[in-house]
Amino acid sequence: MPYAYDPENIFAKILRGEIPNDTVMETEHALAFRDIYPQAPEHILVIPKGPYVCYDHFALEASEAEIVDYTRTIGTICKEMGVQPGEGGAGYRLLSNAGEDAIQEVPHLHVHIVAGRNLGRMLQPAK
Ligand code: 5GP
Repeated sequence: MPYAYDPENIFAKILRGEIPNDTVMETEHALAFRDIYPQAPEHILVIPKGPYVCYDHFALEASEAEIVDYTRTIGTICKEMGVQPGEGGAGYRLLSNAGEDAIQEVPHLHVHIVAGRNLGRMLQPAK
């Protein structure tokens, strides 16, 4: 079943300027802003401007220009935060929830960039 994009989701409203956001970076195809409930000293959400529900939707259907812009935006933010391990930074984590099992809250693709503290193991063991 193809993805159906809900244009009333909260990130669509942010893109239309209907809800304020704390912008970190904006490009032709991407917007990065601070998460309203940060879970680490640095917690940034990066979204494409196009109507993509989640990562696989974007990766399979976005244009090459969108994919390059989006990916480079994430890399540039990591660089500007000074967290690149290859440059002596302490590292970071990228996370993108999709669908029910991942408990995706907002149905517009977003990659979380979290950094600034030890982030622990990636997943808690299943109970
Ligand atoms: P998800 O669970 O879908 O991966 O994450 C959604 C994220 O969006 C959460 O971390 C939540 O704090 C953040 N969020 C939800 N509503 C808003 C909002 O209106 N503004 C901002 N900046 N972040 C939001």
